Amino acid sequence: MSNQFGPDYIRAIAPYQGGKPISEVAREFGLNEADIIKLASNENPLGMPESAKQAMLAVMAELGRYPDSNGFELKAAISAKYDVPQDWITLGNGSNDILELAARAFVHQGQSILYAQYSFAVYALATQAVGARAIVVQAKDYGHDLQAMAEAIAPDTRLVFIANPNNPTGTFLPAAEIETFLQKVPQHVAVVLDEAYNEYLAPNQQYDSIAWVRRYPNLLVSRTLSKAYGLAGLRIGFGIAQPHITDLLNRIRQPFNVNSMAQAAAIAALNDTDFLQKSAQLNAAGYRQLTEGFDALGLRYVPSHGNFVLVKVGDDDAAGARINLALLKQGIIVRPVANYGLPQWLRISIGLPEENAAFLAALKNVLND
Ligand SMILES: *Cc1c(COP(=O)(O)O)cnc(C)c1O
Repeated sequence: MSNQFGPDYIRAIAPYQGGKPISEVAREFGLNEADIIKLASNENPLGMPESAKQAMLAVMAELGRYPDSNGFELKAAISAKYDVPQDWITLGNGSNDILELAARAFVHQGQSILYAQYSFAVYALATQAVGARAIVVQAKDYGHDLQAMAEAIAPDTRLVFIANPNNPTGTFLPAAEIETFLQKVPQHVAVVLDEAYNEYLAPNQQYDSIAWVRRYPNLLVSRTLSKAYGLAGLRIGFGIAQPHITDLLNRIRQPFNVNSMAQAAAIAALNDTDFLQKSAQLNAAGYRQLTEGFDALGLRYVPSHGNFVLVKVGDDDAAGARINLALLKQGIIVRPVANYGLPQWLRISIGLPEENAAFLAALKNVLND
């Protein structure tokens, strides 16, 4: 009887599948937690910055009180860093929160939301949660085909999600392509430009999306502290858009959507340029290590601009699941992506050098079995 509750479009949702927690794999496969390597959720292998830890300890005594609902100090830090007024900023419980707020604020049931094949799973979830129709545009070389996406905008489309770089494929859209796309999108269609991996881009790929926010009143840029800033467990992200958009998001967010520890840690992390630089360097070296390993094993991969690599581990549609299971038995957690329609591939988050080496050794074993 219980499956009679709720609208059809909610019951049709397949829940998000995250990377398996280390504790769960230890239990399931009889392994020691300390021996398990997790390269499954695009977390920063350095963990959280020490600066953020100190900031959290300093606010701990105040946890009996509610957080600052408006996040004044964190918004001030973001405002200074990105040179935008504070009322252009929306804080989120992870940038996931921003993506969901956008769907709820801009779209009602029956209208459509557009995104690319093989793009971030949360776009589909956010679409389904509001009872909207998904327009999924076929990928080009595993990335977004922005020209096809512009052409696919329907009269009832109210929102487009773009990830740059994209997860799980790691593909990157050059600035000029995005700008051409923004010029084509009608004013009544909102665009969310999800830049969760922006901090990993090489200096010559960096572009000024905040300048677009000034020019395009329908653009919302989202950023997260979960990846390069190493704060995934705290849940903190933010959106930047013109105030008419910020105002809408502010009306529907939870009043205390970002907790006090997250606010304090985020301020410290945003100002910790050493940590960010170290993370980006470690990632670049890890990318070379993994891709050289894949080359040596004769495996195909999608060139990635994030902190992970999508690699093809077989030619049959059970390959991803089979290799994933074999790796789990060796204590290595990666991410199967069959739910993205990529059953022959696995997504590997870039880890510490020794973690990458252990993964490559295990993969070699498993492939030779
Ligand atoms: C990880 C990720 C996010 C969001 O993560 P949060 O932890 O919710 O900030 C958003 N978009 C993409 C493409 C991601 O991979």
